[in-house]
Amino acid sequence: MSQVVFSSWGRQIVDNRQGGGADAASVQLKLPEHYLDEGPVSAFMGWDGLVVFDRDVDVVAMAAEYMKRVQEKYCCAKCTPGKKGTRILQDTLARIVSGHGEEQDLAIIESLSDLLQNCKCTLCMTSVTPVLDSVKYFREDYLAYIRRERKPSPAAAYHDKLTAPCTDRCPAHIDIPSYIEEIKNYRFEESLDVIRRNMPIPAVCGRVCPHPCESACRRGLVDEPISIMVLKRVASDHEWMHHKQPPMQPKPKKDKKVCIIGGGPAGASCAYYLALEGFQVTILDMLPEPGGTVAVGIPDYRMPRHLLRREYDIIRSLGVEIRFNTKVGRDVSL
Ligand code: SF4
Ligand code: SF4
Repeated sequence: MSQVVFSSWGRQIVDNRQGGGADAASVQLKLPEHYLDEGPVSAFMGWDGLVVFDRDVDVVAMAAEYMKRVQEKYCCAKCTPGKKGTRILQDTLARIVSGHGEEQDLAIIESLSDLLQNCKCTLCMTSVTPVLDSVKYFREDYLAYIRRERKPSPAAAYHDKLTAPCTDRCPAHIDIPSYIEEIKNYRFEESLDVIRRNMPIPAVCGRVCPHPCESACRRGLVDEPISIMVLKRVASDHEWMHHKQPPMQPKPKKDKKVCIIGGGPAGASCAYYLALEGFQVTILDMLPEPGGTVAVGIPDYRMPRHLLRREYDIIRSLGVEIRFNTKVGRDVSL
């Protein structure tokens, strides 16, 4: 990725418009990973700010397009502050970009932040963050439009994606809003289906994950974060208590074998997804029981062993072989 020209991402201001670039790496580390897969981007706007990689980006036109998409595609219109606030922002930005703006429009944009504090959820409330940053730090660009000194350059190719701060913060990038929605509707199996797409041991992560997702939960801006971790445990306990077998079916067997050294959560996850793809997987583990560090480093009252074993039984049911008490270099050689 190219150098950061400007960033307000994570409320940390990096301004290299006059040269420099020392903090670029730290900004890039904090960006949502979903976007880093998308190939080179010239600029980026989201719930936590604005990042510009290319000096030629028209930040005002970008803010106008961003707010248009927030209003038309993502605002659900279920609360008046969200619905009206984003609409006023959309119209005001469109007016500025079309060459009909007035200086007082900037004051309107800035005042909307207070109105949006009363939103029912944080989607619309946080959507204003990068727009406010653009007005504050790119004010001259706005004034150039307002004084009719500037016209929109040919439209850039804008891409939008709905994600969530919690999903972004989760190391496994689980689709947290979707699985919570399923639990809300008592659809526990569907919820586990969503969770297992990214992480195969919900009984473990529903109990002992450090849950960085919750520190990113925007509900914390209203009162306190949603208990994302424990909700995963609810779905997984429901499956266990009702003696349900997870429905995953591996693809037809491939003529390829994989050996994984170590049967902790990382090795087990590898085995799970490779087995689903049809690989013949063997885990070699020096311990006498499944779970790796979870088994030997976390007490039973926090991670009951029968539930840990159940997670591994599910992985084994996909055809994964686990050889315990087997140390590479002592019992087997590569
Ligand atoms: S703030 Fe949330 S509930 Fe209100 S309109 Fe926007 S998306 Fe809907
Ligand atoms: S509890 Fe852990 S695994 Fe689960 S969503 Fe949060 S960070 Fe991801």
